[in-house]
Amino acid sequence: MTLRVSANAAWRQRSLAAVWHPCTQMKLHAPDGAALPLIPVARAEGVWLHDHEGHRYLDAISSWWVNLFGHNHPAIRAALIDQLNTLDHVMLAGFTHPPVVELSERLAALTGLGHAFYGSDGASATEIALKMSAHHWRNAGRAGKCRFVGVAGGYHGETVGALAVTDIALFREAYAPLVRLAATVPSPDARQAAPGETPAQVAERAAAALGEWLAEHAHQTAAVIIEPLIQCAAGMAMHDPVYLRRARELCDLHQVHLVLDEIAVGFGRTGTLFAHQQAGIRPDFLCLSKGLTGGTLPLSVVLTTDAVFAAFYDDEVARGFLHSHSYTGNPLACRAALATLDLFEQTDALRQNVGTSQRLAAQFAPL
Ligand SMILES: *Cc1c(COP(=O)(O)O)cnc(C)c1O
Repeated sequence: MTLRVSANAAWRQRSLAAVWHPCTQMKLHAPDGAALPLIPVARAEGVWLHDHEGHRYLDAISSWWVNLFGHNHPAIRAALIDQLNTLDHVMLAGFTHPPVVELSERLAALTGLGHAFYGSDGASATEIALKMSAHHWRNAGRAGKCRFVGVAGGYHGETVGALAVTDIALFREAYAPLVRLAATVPSPDARQAAPGETPAQVAERAAAALGEWLAEHAHQTAAVIIEPLIQCAAGMAMHDPVYLRRARELCDLHQVHLVLDEIAVGFGRTGTLFAHQQAGIRPDFLCLSKGLTGGTLPLSVVLTTDAVFAAFYDDEVARGFLHSHSYTGNPLACRAALATLDLFEQTDALRQNVGTSQRLAAQFAPL
């Protein structure tokens, strides 16, 4: 009798031997996934992930919140194939191409932020926004404004600069000596409501704390960074939009940039295309990634204002934003993003989601 290793088990073993998986204590997968089995995926379609042995899994986490319209979507796939037949990639310094121009124009029209700087992952968008904010103040003759303030429980990615504004001890503690820690102000998390207190009152209380902090530290602060409406990594902690309105007022009052990290909550996750639209405000920097390409390719973007752009526009090279990533503005990723924006226009997804979320809430209520 021969012992046959199943196809799933074979891929699991090879992966555990050769691949270092993200955000994972690898020993939890040993031996061969006894405690926490890796799920080998052969292909994906719509909401389903299929393994090598005929099982399917509902991708309820949307592959780390990136997927919006399902896997292997025919419209996004067609756009990618067309783009692959035309232009795979070209560096964006000194060169340009239709997908990056069209995507930047469309994002500007949707947000009122007319200057798009691209990265590849969410964390690189955070890095870009922080560096750009501090460099803006330096170019404006206020180099002392180079510190940041974030919200308790905030998450903005895991590169060293992004960890400075990420207030999650598990992710940060081991790297504490590497990180130039930002200040932290209380979260507007509605779960922190005292008995009888409304979410709006919690938000006002948190905004007052931000105001006190800025009154003292604004002269050395470049930017406040906030995940608008939902702090996802903090356990989907939600807050009232009034917090964002107050943060906007305070940032204007104290001449500090407002950076909104919509890497997770952008692209319809909160009911509007962008979460901050529910507060009727405009940030100085908007960070987008995850859903940007409908979950197909890594791409991030930082959108900013004419005022920020103007502070870098100069005869002197060193006053420019000399930041880059090799794949900045990759045409394939931009094309996937354009196809994703088309789907929002063609499917009326935002309106349909209102009905879907009401049905889901009703179904889960008895549980
Ligand atoms: C996922 C996420 C990031 C980091 O994005 P990566 O692509 O994982 O680097 C930053 N901010 C928020 C709010 C996120 O959800």
